[in-house]
Amino acid sequence: MMPNRIPGRLRTENHDAGRDAGDGCFVDALVVGGGLVGLAAAAFLAQQGVSVVLAERHRSTSLHPKARLVTVRSMEIYRSLGVEDEIRSAGEPNGGFAVGDSLADEHESWIPPAGGGAPAVRLSPVDPYSCDQQRIEPILCNRAEELGARLLFGTEVVDVDEDAHGVSARLSRDGADSGLRARFVIAADGAHSQIRRLAGIELIGRPVPGTAVSALFRADLDPALRGRHVDGFMARSAEAFLFARGNVDDRLWQLGTHIRPEWRLPDDGEGRIEESALMSRLGDVIRAATGLPEIEPRIEDVLTWSTGAWIASKVRRGRILFVGDAAHQMPPYGGFGGNTGVHDAHNLAWKIAAVCRGEASPGLLDTYETERIPIMRLMIAQTLLRSAKTPGQPAPPDQVDSTTLSLGFVYPGDADSPDTASDDATPIDPRVEDPATPSGRPGTRAPHVELTCSGSEDRLRTVSTLDLLDPTGFTLVTATGSVIAEALRRDPVPGITLQVVDEVADGSQGIWESAYSGSGRQALLIRPDQVIVDSVPTGAADPRARVSAARDRALRS
Ligand SMILES: Cc1cc2nc3c(=O)[nH]c(=O)nc-3n(C[C@H](O)[C@H](O)[C@H](O)COP(=O)(O)OP(=O)(O)OC[C@H]3O[C@@H](n4cnc5c(N)ncnc54)[C@H](O)[C@@H]3O)c2cc1C
Repeated sequence: MMPNRIPGRLRTENHDAGRDAGDGCFVDALVVGGGLVGLAAAAFLAQQGVSVVLAERHRSTSLHPKARLVTVRSMEIYRSLGVEDEIRSAGEPNGGFAVGDSLADEHESWIPPAGGGAPAVRLSPVDPYSCDQQRIEPILCNRAEELGARLLFGTEVVDVDEDAHGVSARLSRDGADSGLRARFVIAADGAHSQIRRLAGIELIGRPVPGTAVSALFRADLDPALRGRHVDGFMARSAEAFLFARGNVDDRLWQLGTHIRPEWRLPDDGEGRIEESALMSRLGDVIRAATGLPEIEPRIEDVLTWSTGAWIASKVRRGRILFVGDAAHQMPPYGGFGGNTGVHDAHNLAWKIAAVCRGEASPGLLDTYETERIPIMRLMIAQTLLRSAKTPGQPAPPDQVDSTTLSLGFVYPGDADSPDTASDDATPIDPRVEDPATPSGRPGTRAPHVELTCSGSEDRLRTVSTLDLLDPTGFTLVTATGSVIAEALRRDPVPGITLQVVDEVADGSQGIWESAYSGSGRQALLIRPDQVIVDSVPTGAADPRARVSAARDRALRS
């Protein structure tokens, strides 16, 4: 592999893992793996006030820019983590996907820019974005550390051993072993997860045939682009994709293609390829894909990988929980793999914190499986649908659009709740609903409603109902003058922040009235991960007791 010129974040840290949590555990959570999802998990856990150590066997964050699409839900989550602006600076607005014979030829639109088309009512305060994984990871590193996480790069977790009170992990760094005890382990150790293997958890699914190859290169593609902007491009003639990488200030290109059988060494049982031959073949594919036969691209890094459609048979084994590629793998079509992992970690972090604080029993962690496994399966199925389709073909009827997949998730309802979201969500798939007409029911995302703010600083960006939500606790959102607002002002419920909305911006009243306050409803109780716990009807006999019971139920589940 060629040396990579994009600096990752080089780290050296010692193994001083922190305080004794009181039960022989030195930390609340050990995160194994410092890829996109592990770093996000460490940041979310630290945001919750949990003591967290992350161990990553490499000495730096990712060198290859794998994931680029940051879905609208991921942007919302990054906003609540406080890193939205940094991600914006590191990337650029999503430009969609075009297709043509080569980059120099005519371009047809394949996938319009994510979030494009300006819907009549905005569904989110943010848009999907394009930001390379190797640029996001250092941002998550900084945020995790700012929030108190300890990040140990160059440190491999070689064994984990669980007992009734915690997990003992053996860590290895530069050949020296040390031990660490944690209440919980979050396995974010990627597709080949050693922790999953140690836990004896099998993968269910199937491989996707072939070996994919990604080459990061620099070349002047202006003669092919001729002023056209390209984010993702499929070059039919070369069976290859081209992706813009970096941003306008530091533009790189990425070629995505597959290894052809004739590239492999003849009579080599292992099907190896000589590095110089691979570089030469990739140069040929870049020339064909760009339609620029004269260019000499400078290839800076090459990554080969095989993919599949797999899900772990379990994503929790006792105190060990699996997130990201350790829990599920899917081909990169649609750009969902890393995003799904970030959403896993966001779903899990507050639950681990609630258990560590003694507010919830470990049974709450069962809901990580019941909520996330159906979504993981959905994302895998949707990725396979997209990968089976060639450009120009209409979407099959069971294909769910990216915005709905991102914002319209429906977690199974709580059987004891008077108003669950489990029965009828959408005719497309019961695991999603249309985010343009949010039901406001338990198990769905708290909808974005734009609010009118008087402060001059607030005018600089959309202020959303999502911005009112406490990322570390439960929030009740209601309208000024509601019965429940008065009741909670008189007698607050511990652990619930009251947010009273005075004025909703023009154009947002519809969603406000259908989801939050109106149509027989006076408030929504919302979890730290922005998922609705309860919708309080206007006629509730004792609304204060109702939200208090709903919070208890959400923690007890
Ligand atoms: C070309 C390409 C394009 C993609 N595009 C997109 C996209 O646009 N959008 C999207 O959402 N996804 C995309 N993906 C998928 C995305 O990159 C992955 O889903 C994502 O990297 C998964 O993150 P992870 O943290 O779960 O795993 P990884 O990124 O694999 O990280 C796992 C980490 O764990 C470490 N580790 C493993 N074992 C141990 C151990 N025992 N001790 C310590 N450390 C350990 C590894 O060194 C590694 O750093 C793309 C993937 C590829 C290859």
